[in-house]
Amino acid sequence: MLNDLVNLFYPNNCGCCNNVLRKGEAHICLFCLSDLPRTNYIKIKENPVAKLFWGRVDLIYGFSTFNFSKKGKIQDLIHLLKYKEKTDIGFVLGKEVGKEINENIPPNTFDFIVPVPLHPKKQRLRGYNQSTFIAQGISEVCLVPVNEEIVVRVSNTVSQTKKNKHERWENVAEIFQLKNQENIVGKHILLVDDVVTTGSTLESCARKFLEVPNTKVSIAVLASGF
Ligand SMILES: [Zn+2]
Repeated sequence: MLNDLVNLFYPNNCGCCNNVLRKGEAHICLFCLSDLPRTNYIKIKENPVAKLFWGRVDLIYGFSTFNFSKKGKIQDLIHLLKYKEKTDIGFVLGKEVGKEINENIPPNTFDFIVPVPLHPKKQRLRGYNQSTFIAQGISEVCLVPVNEEIVVRVSNTVSQTKKNKHERWENVAEIFQLKNQENIVGKHILLVDDVVTTGSTLESCARKFLEVPNTKVSIAVLASGF
């Protein structure tokens, strides 16, 4: 009875199917969580996300956890995460990425988890960086710290139109700057983003890390459309 009243005034529904959540469920019901389309790319070294970066930047691992299709559940969830302040959804889905990492990648592989930074202006507008919450979910499960103090975004857009290959490279390389780079010498960084499309932003950020001696970079994205 009390619970019903609480639900009436503070509805606690699944972000996917909108059903009332049961005890032990948080933000997404267990049915929807198990029903989300998974890529299982983490099990395949030469998967489409890893291949996207071939010849562009050297990664140790590259994978997405979920498949992003138009009008699919993952698209709805990412929309809530990015535009409706449902940051907990990022955390819950990040934990799924983390479980996959624990099952498929040796422990202590990564030293830091770094969410791809938004441009400060964009972050101020949105109020948060959605990838931070995904990173925190992974961190919770994998026990690897999130580090948001080593890279900043200095440009908002990756413009690639009407540029030759060389100019494109320069443009891509300029959107991030490192700080405290002595902290990542010899470290393996897991770079995290919500969605990968062209991969240009992730490429640019990964390149920056690889300018530091003996760093390694892997990329985990929540969802890819391929
Ligand atoms: Zn549901």
